[in-house]
Amino acid sequence: MSDLRYDPVFCQWCVIAESRQSRPFEFQEIVQRRAGIDCPFCAGNESVTPPPIAVSPDSASGDPANPSWLVRVVPNKYPALDSTLAIIDQQDPQRSTPGAGHQEVIVLSPRHVVSLSGLSDDELFTSFRVFQERLRVHNQSPAIRHVCIFMNCRPPAGASIEHAHVQLISSPVCTDQVRQRVQRMTTPTDSGDTLWQELLTLEMAETTRMIQCSGGYLVYCPFASRYSNQIRIAPRTTHSFADLPPDSRDELALLCRKWIDGIERCLDDIAWNLIFQLPPTDVPDAPWFVDLVPRYPQSAGFELATDCWVNPVSPETAADQFRKFEQGQSVS
Ligand SMILES: [Zn+2]
Repeated sequence: MSDLRYDPVFCQWCVIAESRQSRPFEFQEIVQRRAGIDCPFCAGNESVTPPPIAVSPDSASGDPANPSWLVRVVPNKYPALDSTLAIIDQQDPQRSTPGAGHQEVIVLSPRHVVSLSGLSDDELFTSFRVFQERLRVHNQSPAIRHVCIFMNCRPPAGASIEHAHVQLISSPVCTDQVRQRVQRMTTPTDSGDTLWQELLTLEMAETTRMIQCSGGYLVYCPFASRYSNQIRIAPRTTHSFADLPPDSRDELALLCRKWIDGIERCLDDIAWNLIFQLPPTDVPDAPWFVDLVPRYPQSAGFELATDCWVNPVSPETAADQFRKFEQGQSVS
């Protein structure tokens, strides 16, 4: 039996319909990296990218005169937004503004690593520190309304380059979707908590969708998951991501690596997106969270027509699968 569920944060309906899993599927798609391509993000190919914005040296490389790097930030060579355009703060009725903004690529390793799950501890912790540092830089720009940090892994998730990298886009526009989501999250409820606090309390009490509840974060499959096997990592503290203390930032990094590894092991190296769901820059202390979204060819006519997604894997089933994964491995 299917279940229509409502997400009051995203204001979206979805249909949990596990019977859809038994549908026949007659097609196959094999995506392979083209041979003979030099990876622009591997160590040794630095000249292929534009000059770096920031470089985190590898302090363990042993050669202070020529340190290798762990993490490298470069401008996006093919940006959707153009950092050379003047950012105009205008409020005309048609809300037109030049496509001005900044788009950076954060290369997570000098090695040809495909996924965040393949990063070393040094690469992982340095990467998350760089995410935080770059967010702070862009948050301080008065014309920037929103900073989006995300990772696309493998082509079905939107990746055009295989080497593990995160993208940061800072925009003079904050979409209504982001602004209204944050307004709903911070709305007080009858219990005296905000809607977001109440939802986290409900997820903790329910337990069937909870995967890991320890330290400073909750890891769970959201009640009204639009996407099959979606995982959400929500901080239990009130720190913004930009202000997270190093130990809490490292804990988040480890959880992201662990549960991306979980998604890849449980779902045959499926493509995925990692999304920092960050608030607008003018409410920097508003709640935030991280979504890990495995990518299936899931949206079809019904979803495009109604914005109501059909999810053939209930979040309860998904959470059970991920808990079993955790029981079978010892990485913390
Ligand atoms: Zn590479």
